[in-house]
Amino acid sequence: MKHRNSRGVFSDRSAGKKLLSIRMVITDVDGVLTDGSVVFNGDGTESKTFNVRDGSGIKYLMRNGITVAILSARESAPVHHRAANLGIKHCITGAQDKLPAYRDLLEENGLSDAEVCYVGDDLPDIPPMRCASFPVAVADAVAEVKEFAAWVTRAPGGRGAIREVAEKILKAQGKWCKVMERYTP
Ligand SMILES: [Mg+2]
Repeated sequence: MKHRNSRGVFSDRSAGKKLLSIRMVITDVDGVLTDGSVVFNGDGTESKTFNVRDGSGIKYLMRNGITVAILSARESAPVHHRAANLGIKHCITGAQDKLPAYRDLLEENGLSDAEVCYVGDDLPDIPPMRCASFPVAVADAVAEVKEFAAWVTRAPGGRGAIREVAEKILKAQGKWCKVMERYTP
């Protein structure tokens, strides 16, 4: 399957080559790790719903040497709880302009654009998606974001999109069998 975008046509073969180099997955939160809903409780605090299979996918990535980072434009306490729950060390919230934060993450981890997969759903994600080697849009991302994606997940945000990304990277790198070994010894 091929996806045409403003930077040309990505074939599965070129996508496979890019996936081999991925060392870090940077993901947006609202609309990617969640379905985009934000619930305000009576006391003014915020609630979000996360997907357990997405969480497992993130753990599989980290167990296999791929760093996972969260990059959100909104400040949100539940995001930090979820990150801590999953053992994600890099959790950036309140980054209205995502590109400088993206650059800082790469510098901090000694990585280049060629080693990064970025997952997004809305317009603020476009600047980092234009830099990352493997930009991914979730199934229900806005059309403009899909234009800049090398790959679009089948699942929408908050419903297994990140799990798909994890499986795609780990399978491309030949690490999925290691994940399975733990459960099928
Ligand atoms: Mg979003």
